[in-house]
Amino acid sequence: MEAAERTNEAIEASSRPPEAELRYRLLVQGMEEGVVFHDQDGFIRSTNPSAERILRISADGLLGCRSVLERCEPLREDGAPFALEGCPALICLRTGQSEREHVIGIRHPDEHVSWLSFTSHPLRRGDGGRAGVVTSFRDITALRARESESTQRYEEVSNTVRMHDAFLATAAHELRTPLTALRLQVQNLMRLASSGAQLANEALSVKLERLVRQTERVNSLINLLLDVSRMTVGQLELRRSRFDLAALTRDILARGAEEHASVGIVVEVNAEPAIGEWDEERLEQVLANLVSNAIKYGNGGPVRVDVRAEATRAVLTVSDRGHGIPAADHRRIFERFERAHAGSQSGMGLGLWIVREIVAAHGGSVVVSSAPGQGSTFTVSLPRLIPNESPRPHPGAR
Ligand code: ADP
Repeated sequence: MEAAERTNEAIEASSRPPEAELRYRLLVQGMEEGVVFHDQDGFIRSTNPSAERILRISADGLLGCRSVLERCEPLREDGAPFALEGCPALICLRTGQSEREHVIGIRHPDEHVSWLSFTSHPLRRGDGGRAGVVTSFRDITALRARESESTQRYEEVSNTVRMHDAFLATAAHELRTPLTALRLQVQNLMRLASSGAQLANEALSVKLERLVRQTERVNSLINLLLDVSRMTVGQLELRRSRFDLAALTRDILARGAEEHASVGIVVEVNAEPAIGEWDEERLEQVLANLVSNAIKYGNGGPVRVDVRAEATRAVLTVSDRGHGIPAADHRRIFERFERAHAGSQSGMGLGLWIVREIVAAHGGSVVVSSAPGQGSTFTVSLPRLIPNESPRPHPGAR
C-alpha cells in the first residue's frame, strides 16, 4: 500500500476512538516517506519528521504553505526551474484526481540537489465530500545515480560491441584482399603445371616471390590482430636491450628504400646516435607504422625522419607534407579504430593506437602537430633508461 493511501486511512481514523487515532498518528510519524496534509483550502496543516528530513525544512517552515515546493528551489528533470502550478498536490486539489510518481528536483541552500518522487491523493470525508489532499514523497537521488550509471555503462558496452563488429568486418576485408591474390596466383601456377607448359626458372621465381609477399602480408595482418588482442588486455611485455635508435632507423629505412623508390617517394633521414634501453622489435613497429602513414597520407611528397638524443630522452620525428589532420582529430586518431580520413585509404585505424601503446609501455609519449593541407609531424619521445631505473642524483648534487 502506498504511503498516501495509508495516510488516507489515518485521516478516516481521526473519527475513531483515541487509541486508534494514536496508532495511525504513530504510523505516519514513523514512515520513511515524507508526508504532508493539505486542508480543503490547500494549506499544509501537518507534516511528519521524514518530510522535514528529506526537504531539510522544519515543520514550522512548511505549515501554512500551499506547496512544499514554495520553500525550495524546485527543478524539472531536465534541470530547468520547475513551475509551481505543476506541483502534484496543487493539481490534485484542482482536479480531485490522484497524481503519481512526479519526479522533481530540490536544490538545497548548499547547492546539493535531491531528486524526489511525489504522489498526491485526494482525501474524502465519509459523505464523499473533499477533505483535502495527502502528499507523500521519497528521495530517489541514489536510485537515479545508479540508473544513470548503468545507462552509461550500457552505452559504453554497446559502443565497444559496435566497434568490435566494425573491426571484424574491416579485418575480414583486409585479410581477404591478399588471400584472394594468393589464391589466384596459386591457381595460375596449378593451371600452368597441369597444361605441361615449361616455365623458365626466372619467371617461376618471380611468381613465387609474389606468393611469398602475399603470405607476408597475411602474416603481418594476423600479427596485427594478435597484437591488438594482447595490448587490449594489457599484456604488452617489453624485451629490452641496449641499442642505437639512429642505427635502427637507418637500417629500417634502408630495407624499405627500394619499395619507396618504386613509388617515387623520397625518404630523408637525419639521425644522430641515441643509445637507450628499449624493445627493438616494438620500436621497429613504431617507426614502420609512422613512416607507412607518412607515405600513405603524404600525397606522394617527401617524408623526413629525424632522431636526436637529449640528456634523458631520445626524440624521433616523422614528418610529411600531405593531407594534414584537423586539430579536432589530433587526440582521437590515437584511439583504437579511429580514422580521420576514413574511406580515402584502406586501413583499420589501429596503427597509431599501437604506436601509442608501445611508446607508453616504454614510459614515453607521442604527439602530432598538423593542420589540414600543411602536412603532419609525429613526435615520439622515449626515456633512454628504464623509467624506474633512472640514475640517482649525485650525492653532492642539489
Ligand atoms: P589507419 O592508417 O589504418 O587508418 P592509423 O591508426 O595508423 O590507422 O591512423 C589513424 C588515422 O590517422 C588515419 O586513418 C588517418 O586519418 C590519420 N593519419 C595517420 N597518420 C597520418 C598522416 N601522416 N597524415 C595525415 N593523417 C594521418
